[in-house]
Amino acid sequence: IVGADDKASHAAIPLPAELYRPQRENSHGIEFGERKALDTLTSAIAAERKAPPSVTPSTTEQANVAVAAARRGFRAWNATPATKRAAILDKTAGLLEQRRAHFLALLQSEGGKTLDDALSEVREAIDFCRYYAALGQKLFGEGETMPGPTGESNVLELHGRGAFVAISPWNFPLAIFLGQVTAALMAGNAVIAKPAEQTPRIAAEVVALLHQAGVPPSALHLVQGDGAVGAALVAHPAIAGVVFTGSTEVARSINRTLAAKDGPIVPLIAETGGINAMIVDATALPEQVADDVVTSAFRSAGQRCSALRLLFVQDDVADRMIEMIAGAARELKIGDPSEPSTHIGPVIDAEAKQRLDAHIARMKQEARVHLAGEAPSGNFVAPHIFELSAAGQLKEEVFGPILHVVRYRADKLGEVLTAIEATGFGLTLGIHSRIDDTIEHVIDRLQVGNIYVNRNMIGAVVGVQPFGGSGLSGTGPKAGGPHYLARFATEQTITINT
Ligand code: NAP
Repeated sequence: IVGADDKASHAAIPLPAELYRPQRENSHGIEFGERKALDTLTSAIAAERKAPPSVTPSTTEQANVAVAAARRGFRAWNATPATKRAAILDKTAGLLEQRRAHFLALLQSEGGKTLDDALSEVREAIDFCRYYAALGQKLFGEGETMPGPTGESNVLELHGRGAFVAISPWNFPLAIFLGQVTAALMAGNAVIAKPAEQTPRIAAEVVALLHQAGVPPSALHLVQGDGAVGAALVAHPAIAGVVFTGSTEVARSINRTLAAKDGPIVPLIAETGGINAMIVDATALPEQVADDVVTSAFRSAGQRCSALRLLFVQDDVADRMIEMIAGAARELKIGDPSEPSTHIGPVIDAEAKQRLDAHIARMKQEARVHLAGEAPSGNFVAPHIFELSAAGQLKEEVFGPILHVVRYRADKLGEVLTAIEATGFGLTLGIHSRIDDTIEHVIDRLQVGNIYVNRNMIGAVVGVQPFGGSGLSGTGPKAGGPHYLARFATEQTITINT
């Protein structure tokens, strides 16, 4: 299986290469010395996992103290020149590079990541730091001179908003956590970060790294704990913004809390999930489809927001395609994520496994089973492929290695598009076809954030494939894209009568 990273294109970077170049070239794989360091750390951390260092969840009072401290830290940080803030983010990227083996081991032990996934995630985290640093220098520097037809001088400046809350999920505990925090910091905000309760240690180490790189402690605060702590932060009257990545359900609840508050109107940037589809017609190349479907649906144990959930296959080729996909999926190795040959590690926790097992049990009753693999004991879920009689049978995002297939007739492509729209989500979409008119028609019709044609549909590259959805999948702007930082900022126009 070819990882998404190998296929990245570098053609469309909106910033000059001297300012930003994503970490995808020449960095796939690990070096010998690093492998040794990784082995040592992995076994040390595996031992530690048996008696993990306890992370004390913050109380609501502590969360309130963090918001108050962030408000105090905001002015000085916002007044720090953008070049200096950018230099700190670049330094963070450098420190991450130096400590790559350590973070790889952490991602494996705390996040259950395979080595391939951990490598991609560290690279993505480094990319976020460097991309936002490069972009931020342009956006938050001198201000933009506007026309002066009345003889006045007009300048538009971007500034931080204040104390910004960043709430992140467990599935990219390094890259998403750091991406949110660095974006908010680069824009001049003081940040209160609340990671997922399953991945507190990675968050704590990332925050330590940012402080070491030069972010003042008063500008960055870590609040550990569960959803209740996140809810308390969101409800705090003095916060200036929220960036959230996670489920649609929690995004809605945050939105409701913000809307019900008195005082200033607080913006929400929410990036949520999807029931992501791929359409495969009879002109697609079967071997490529099999490879791309397996990568999209099963890599990271299906625990990516971008992962493929619903595969529409033209009926003329469906039997052969499904057989090839199932055959390729049977070859995947499930097990210990610290073993380099493992393709699928554990799902995040016992609760996630129970939810997925319940869905599998239901599908075994309601759908045709094409693949029902065996998983080792522990929190492992083997790849499954179920054929549905209608797409509507899948009513919610299923966050695991479970693929749902629906056949369609060539003259009924319209019904496929209607079914995709009916999900209400709009995060990722795959199209496998050699007919340009079909590809254009699908792209024109569907409002989906990231569309991938004739390739897999995961692994968006920072600064190259800005990522994020619409509808139930989020508010935008796209992470790793040129418009992201501006949404963390407030705008100020200064008019001087000269
Ligand atoms: P989640 O349950 O929504 O949790 C996300 C974060 O919100 C966690 O830190 C969680 O804390 C916190 N939280 C829970 N309830 C809260 C509340 N009432 N108020 C404030 N914060 C609250 O999502 P997850 O299970 O961690 O992550 C999986 C979901 O994220 C999937 O739906 C996936 O599609 C989505 N996702 C989207 C993207 C994207 O870029 N669009 C990327 C990755 C993941 P605790 O976990 O500690 O309780």
